[in-house]
Amino acid sequence: MATKNKRDYYDVLGTNKSASQSEIKKAFYKLAKTHHPDRGGDAEKFKKINEAYMVLSNPDKRAKYDRFGFSGMDFGEGFSGGGFSSFTDIFDMFFGGGGDIFGGGRSGRRRRVVHGEDIEVKVKLSFKEGVFGIKKEIEYTRSEPCHQCDGLGALSRNDIRSCPTCGGSGQETRTVRSILGLMRQSVTCSQCNGTGEIIRKACPVCRGKKVVIKKNKTTVNIPAGVDSNMHLKVQGHGHIPTKDAIPGDLYLRIMVKKDRRFERDHYDIHSMVKCSFMQVIKGCELTIDTIDGPTKVKIAPGTEAESQLRLKNKGIPTLESRGQRRGDHFITVKVKIPKYSSLTKAQKNLIDELIKIS
Ligand SMILES: [Zn+2]
Ligand SMILES: [Zn+2]
Repeated sequence: MATKNKRDYYDVLGTNKSASQSEIKKAFYKLAKTHHPDRGGDAEKFKKINEAYMVLSNPDKRAKYDRFGFSGMDFGEGFSGGGFSSFTDIFDMFFGGGGDIFGGGRSGRRRRVVHGEDIEVKVKLSFKEGVFGIKKEIEYTRSEPCHQCDGLGALSRNDIRSCPTCGGSGQETRTVRSILGLMRQSVTCSQCNGTGEIIRKACPVCRGKKVVIKKNKTTVNIPAGVDSNMHLKVQGHGHIPTKDAIPGDLYLRIMVKKDRRFERDHYDIHSMVKCSFMQVIKGCELTIDTIDGPTKVKIAPGTEAESQLRLKNKGIPTLESRGQRRGDHFITVKVKIPKYSSLTKAQKNLIDELIKIS
């Protein structure tokens, strides 16, 4: 979890939070050309640039990063920026596959690393579970390589032949016009959909699809302080499209139920307490609900209506401190004024008496 001393992704790309997607792309393009190891750049630096770009260029990942930073995303196994492991993969993605943008030398076939898609599941929590965290078993479905044929699509290798259109490469080459002039670009073969092979006799379980949809379970420690619409990443629990693919990630979208007693404001709790006007005049002790259970609070004599009491450190544990620090609990004093017409004769007499002597 060595994410503490990482440089901000926006800093790495020399841009800022308000940058548009195209500004981010431009910034990355410029840096990538300077620092690419193929052009004598520093590999470590290049890796950091890539990582920053992989996150900030993906609107979903960028939103998560903006919200959580590194720490919120760091979920046990660290935030890897989506698991892109090699430079070529990133360049394939960025430049549309196989394009030789640096003017020659790097052409030829490369084995592409396949990345599985991410999965999002909603996780419903009670108010208290969101506040204090909980260990939860998460059920979800994902595609995995077929167990019958081991992801082959056929029961025997003899039932598979090479695709005649692309000769087994899965790619067709064509020339396209780009900002850097004409360049050769590989596109996915239309006959075999990029697999490079034609299955003659399909596996009966996956029907030649190579993958099956499977129900999965995983137990996750949901940290204290989570709130609705936060995403927690469980690395490697997403779809697995092929046997040697890097699995996608599982994102848990948190939905926290409301509690009618408590209003949440970031890590603070707001609630109210009702008092009679006699109680606020004289002062009193009342029992109120907190997230830790009932507790007694003193209402000082002469407390005004709508004034706030503050219970320090009785709010919600913060995600950033991993539950070590907590917000506060604010209580608004509501004063009930009875209707004069609803008063008893004795009460009315007492009020007349009060008015006379005050
Ligand atoms: Zn083909
Ligand atoms: Zn199969």
